[in-house]
Amino acid sequence: MEDNTLSLRKKAELICSGRISVPPGTKIPFPTSRSSAGPGAGGESIVIAFSGRRVKMEVDRNCASDLELRQVGKGGYEVLRDGEVFVTDVRIVPTLCHAPDQAFVCLGRSCRLGCLYCNIDSAGKQELTVQKAFDLIVASSKHGKIGGIAVTSGVTSTVEQQVEDVAALIARVKRAFPMLKVGAEPLITSRDQLVKLSKAGADEIKVNLEAARGDIFRMVCPNRDYDLTIESIGWASEIFGRGAVTSNIIVGFGEDDSDVENAVSMLAGMGSVANIRRLRLDDANRPRLEKALGPLTPVDEERLVALGRRHAETLRKNGLSPRKFETMCFPCASCDIVPDVDL
Ligand code: SF4
Ligand code: SF4
Repeated sequence: MEDNTLSLRKKAELICSGRISVPPGTKIPFPTSRSSAGPGAGGESIVIAFSGRRVKMEVDRNCASDLELRQVGKGGYEVLRDGEVFVTDVRIVPTLCHAPDQAFVCLGRSCRLGCLYCNIDSAGKQELTVQKAFDLIVASSKHGKIGGIAVTSGVTSTVEQQVEDVAALIARVKRAFPMLKVGAEPLITSRDQLVKLSKAGADEIKVNLEAARGDIFRMVCPNRDYDLTIESIGWASEIFGRGAVTSNIIVGFGEDDSDVENAVSMLAGMGSVANIRRLRLDDANRPRLEKALGPLTPVDEERLVALGRRHAETLRKNGLSPRKFETMCFPCASCDIVPDVDL
């Protein structure tokens, strides 16, 4: 196993690259995963593991990425960078339904909110009805040991309807899998919606702050309300409990590190655990984002690790930990540097 600091840096570098070349003939032992929401929606991905860390990477069948997956012996892999061995002792981890050990489904697979970084509308997927999503979760549970269930959704009609659908699915899965924790990641605009989700059986919730600063939020989420989002995170902590609420802060919109630290501290003070996520720029979202924000500098591995270290410190001071979550991104830990998991 590699030195801890070195493997952390390598994970950050893999996150920052985001794509891995998979040459023809390379055997992938499990079906690849496809994301339905967020940046990267629609792409084919795999989760790789090394040195106790995981990374989800988009599969590049055209082999344009400088990172390459190479098969070594039976079931083993390594990652090459520019043809040189970069990471050894790599495994490919099966994703049950989007994430390892977890069924994480997306109900509404389009969204009328039009956040500039989000590619949900280009995912080209059929809507999932509550019944189909339930069937998918049940089918996933037969393919492997399921450790948690989570539900997200775009807003295809109204926010209220989105919450109704998420709550209806959660109520069904909670009856079918009473021993499992269920997480919810819908768009929230009222306290009542959170109460409804809690009554349906949701144990953990993600209400996304999205950007570290209000002015950036207003530019990248032009149809959402920043103050209401913060208020909703506060309501979520009251209803779900301190430490059971998480919130994405996407970095790479032009904010500086002190903006991120302030946002992480604000959330921690409210009992919510930030999930710092690197902005993934691609041909679909870059033109929209740069039109609104000007030229963007991609977040590099050094910044990602430095933000992660400060993030971990703030959480410790506030008695919070991503390790307490059993659903959504923290137990998966494939897309971010996660305090208490990666450092
Ligand atoms: S609310 Fe924004 S981030 Fe969420 S699915 Fe809709 S467009 Fe995407
Ligand atoms: S970290 Fe979150 S977004 Fe990434 S694969 Fe896991 S569950 Fe999905």
